[in-house]
Amino acid sequence: MGFSKKVKNLKESATLQAAAKAKALKNKGVDVLNLTIGEPDFSTPKSIQQAAIKSIEDGSSSFYTPATGLIELKKAIIERTRIDYGVEYQTNEVFIGNGAKYVLYALFQTLLNPGDEVIIPTPYWVSYSAQVELADGKNVFVETTQENHYRVTVEELEKARTDKTRILILNTPSNPTGTVYTAKELLEIGNWAVSNNIYIIADDIYAKLVYNGNVFTSIVSLSDAIKKQTIVVNGVSKAYAMTGWRIGYALCQSEIVSQVSKVISQSTSNPATVSQYAAIEALSGNQDIVESMRQTFEQRLNDIFPLIQAIPGVKVEKPQGAFYLYLNIKDTMAMCGYDNVTNWVNDLLEEAHVAVVTGEAFGTSHHVRISYATDMDTLTQAISQINKFIDSKR
Ligand code: PLP
Repeated sequence: MGFSKKVKNLKESATLQAAAKAKALKNKGVDVLNLTIGEPDFSTPKSIQQAAIKSIEDGSSSFYTPATGLIELKKAIIERTRIDYGVEYQTNEVFIGNGAKYVLYALFQTLLNPGDEVIIPTPYWVSYSAQVELADGKNVFVETTQENHYRVTVEELEKARTDKTRILILNTPSNPTGTVYTAKELLEIGNWAVSNNIYIIADDIYAKLVYNGNVFTSIVSLSDAIKKQTIVVNGVSKAYAMTGWRIGYALCQSEIVSQVSKVISQSTSNPATVSQYAAIEALSGNQDIVESMRQTFEQRLNDIFPLIQAIPGVKVEKPQGAFYLYLNIKDTMAMCGYDNVTNWVNDLLEEAHVAVVTGEAFGTSHHVRISYATDMDTLTQAISQINKFIDSKR
């Protein structure tokens, strides 16, 4: 059978694949402890569900919406952003898509010509590089280190820059490391992007999930010039426990919105109308629900972090945000006699029934990602089984 070269070269999302593998084993009756999950383990809050039900019952969600989304939702996004970031946008500077993932996809399709370069600090969220490839762009990975707390510097960016550099992707808080950039770091990076006319895609999807006194700063709040150069990507999935609803959005210059609109209108038409009504309630309703979920994640992080640190050979930074731990297991792998992290991850699943995601999915070769978007019993049991697995190999 003939398939396009693009699709033949495309890897499946490694996080979704890891989750599917864990599920398949579970379906065979194995009691798998699944730490691959990239979504809150809470149901969508009732008030948001009710808003969706109302839009079904009164018929308003029966129809298509404009390609870039309902004006009411755009207004709710603008108001939320004004309150949270202190930054003003107009309705022609917003577009809504089927999750932040599709928003990013539509942006790369809109902004990249073949060979255009996109700088991606490593470790990075799995889909950036695949989506750049699908848009015929070229990934330029800039490695960050644990010693530098997985933060990219302007010096490193400058080394990676060429006259083809078009976009820098900045994800704070980061998936997978949980790093939150400071205002000072963001200002330096923002000014560098402005002077070199490079777009910043600021993936702020975890902006509301920041812990232990750390503060999220939006790069667009730092100067008008940086705001103009930046496309903010955000969504309701992580902060409002709404991954299944598929609503993401971007804030950027109106010229970009007009062009993206063509991509959306020819591919998905519009994000599901019922989900847009739910998102209006999420963004404009009572925000206490977000804070209570945030506190739960923070408590879990603080409870399990010492247990993670005590796993033999593991080196780990305490994450400042998101809901993942990125473990450097180079020494652990050596202790267990492994030189390939994915083999270690596969054996951990087969033998100890704990599912984690290989660091190879995020562009590093000695790490695994653990999600703490799951209950404490599962987490503590999983850590105990990881310890036993390591013991059995030494
Ligand atoms: N960006 C990052 C860093 C993510 O981790 C995710 C989800 O895992 C997304 C974007 C996409 O989120 P969604 O498509 O559910 O809005």
